[in-house]
Amino acid sequence: MAYKNREESKELKMLRLLNARMELTTQEKNRYLFMKKGFDGEVQFDQVLERAGLDNRFYVLNDLLLKCDGTIFQIDSTLITQHSIIPFEIKNSDGNYYYQDNNFYSCKTKSEIKNPLHQLDRIQTMLRKLLRKNGFSLHVEGYVVFINPEFYLYQAPLDEPIVYFPQLNNFIKELNSKPDVLNDSHRKLADFLLKEHITDFPIRDLPRYSWDSLRKGLMSACCGSLAVNVSGSMMECLHCGTVESVESAVVRSVEEVRLLFPEIKITTSIIYEWCNKLYSKKVIRKILIKHFSLIGYGKWVYYE
Ligand SMILES: [Zn+2]
Repeated sequence: MAYKNREESKELKMLRLLNARMELTTQEKNRYLFMKKGFDGEVQFDQVLERAGLDNRFYVLNDLLLKCDGTIFQIDSTLITQHSIIPFEIKNSDGNYYYQDNNFYSCKTKSEIKNPLHQLDRIQTMLRKLLRKNGFSLHVEGYVVFINPEFYLYQAPLDEPIVYFPQLNNFIKELNSKPDVLNDSHRKLADFLLKEHITDFPIRDLPRYSWDSLRKGLMSACCGSLAVNVSGSMMECLHCGTVESVESAVVRSVEEVRLLFPEIKITTSIIYEWCNKLYSKKVIRKILIKHFSLIGYGKWVYYE
């Protein structure tokens, strides 16, 4: 198991919910899809590491947000081995690109894209600085991983730390042959990074929304679809046919309301309305009592 798991960022979670419950502008939608694609690529990389058992031999820390000298930097994935710490910059881009004069260009638009090697350089410089300042001396050697099998780079540079999808298996084998005698100092480093990880990063310009402007309804866990068919205590996603219990969907609804409307107190009526009155208040109350703590009395009751 990874020493630090990956989770959707709060921003991505909120955009995912809002995408299902309102019409996002083209720009907002693109931002959501871009973030989602990035996240999906990172999850795929986690699975590759797990399948190879690397998480049992080394410290794997997914998605770190760190700060050094007032500058914030993010590492998609970090591996602590016996002799080195390896930050990964994961890219899930697809399509054709070319490399020219130290820059990446899209073949389709001929426009320059953000150079992931520069991003990696920055991450490595900041990480080295942060480690040195705090008395850690492990060697830093990072990589850019293009995880998407449909990514192609013309005129690719030979001597840069890039791993392309067809090379991934071999690369993982090489990682797995690295020595893994991890001692207390490695553990201290892993704990240090966990402690330094920033969790309360402010979210910039979310789409504008209000309680009344959002679509109500139970959302399926599989597709995030509001098109569901409730029958008895079960709910079917009309998008893909997956069946789940209404109970788990209601519990998720509570998390949704908490995330989107932190100022609203969770009551039976609020959740009843959020679920588009698909289920009786009585049943919703039962589910709330089972999963949350009841605060207050009589008509001032709410759940936490
Ligand atoms: Zn579905």
